[in-house]
Amino acid sequence: MQEKSKIWLSSPHMGGTEQDFVNQAFETNWVAPLGPNVNGFEEDLQKYIGEEKKVACLVSGTAALHLGLIQLGVGYGDEVLCQSFTFSASANPILYQGATPVFIDSEASTWNICPIALEEAIKDRIQKGKKPKAIIAVHLYGMPYLVDEVHEIANTYKIPILEDAAEALGSTYKGRNCGTFGTFAALSFNGNKIITTSGGGSLVCPDKKTKEKTVFLATQARDDAPHYQHSHVGYNYRMSNIVAGIGRGQMQILNKHVDLRRKMHAFYTDAFQNITGVEVLSAPTEDFYANHWLSSITVDPNQTKGLTREDLRIAFLEENIESRPLWKPMHLQPIFEKYPYYGKQVCEQLFKNGLCLPSGSNLTDNDRNRILSVIYRFFKKQ
Ligand SMILES: *Cc1c(COP(=O)(O)O)cnc(C)c1O
Repeated sequence: MQEKSKIWLSSPHMGGTEQDFVNQAFETNWVAPLGPNVNGFEEDLQKYIGEEKKVACLVSGTAALHLGLIQLGVGYGDEVLCQSFTFSASANPILYQGATPVFIDSEASTWNICPIALEEAIKDRIQKGKKPKAIIAVHLYGMPYLVDEVHEIANTYKIPILEDAAEALGSTYKGRNCGTFGTFAALSFNGNKIITTSGGGSLVCPDKKTKEKTVFLATQARDDAPHYQHSHVGYNYRMSNIVAGIGRGQMQILNKHVDLRRKMHAFYTDAFQNITGVEVLSAPTEDFYANHWLSSITVDPNQTKGLTREDLRIAFLEENIESRPLWKPMHLQPIFEKYPYYGKQVCEQLFKNGLCLPSGSNLTDNDRNRILSVIYRFFKKQ
């Protein structure tokens, strides 16, 4: 029997014009970490998210978070509040700076940083003698966090927010684009994100001056002199003009891909509608417009006669369909478990019962039928 083709969680999906931009780079010999595609991609991103922001393209979303923290003045011994329920790349740059992460639980409606736990942590850290230097809030799976509530707390205590919008390009909150709420924000164009440049990211900066500073730091912090002169620590974080060419092509189909991912979410909402014990992460109100980068569910074994998300994951795997447990919270990771954590077990529970499902914009009707047949067969056991 022929092996069934693999259905991926989220795979690259080219629109068609990417190679033209890459070829242009070769034809004009702009094979360097600067050039017309880098400038063009930055302009495209600015036009998309809002022209009041200035975008600096970098080698990765992780590099963007790192340069964001540096510019928020985070240094050795400082504390940074960080959503625990996220990918490790949100938290690693805190350690790069020799600072201490303080992890915060999620709330159940968006799965993102909980304003109550956040405020409790801020008060407690201040009482313990140190006011946190920054807050890292994440729009996980493309679902905007509780922007109003979280920013109100940040404003009250005058702590800047570094917004991790790596998964949320194309998502909006009250009509405004994710990536424009924080003092700085990070975007990612890694291979599995909603648009990809194979690898890449950008830092969304509040103004021209901070963008210039970002580019300066990302290109080895060279002072203005004919020789190589340095008075700051520099980084080699600038995006290549080849990679940026892919990004320019991807920007042309971003909105189409957001629509297709949202259709995948609607497909799952429909598929699980009559299955007790399964919840699909969905916008809590009309203020939240998610790109649904990954459609994600929780499976409560108390309501499914004992069937768990792990059973479901294996059922998919047997049909060569990829699915994956939700992010394992940072405060449970060996590298981060010694750091403080404030919360009430919301993200622990999500990790225990949650699963990400195939969500790519390039899935076919045939793929959807294979997914559906696993779901129906699996829950028939109920
Ligand atoms: C992908 C991702 C990052 C890191 O982006 P890279 O471009 O892979 O470095 C950071 N935070 C979150 C939440 C992500 O999903």
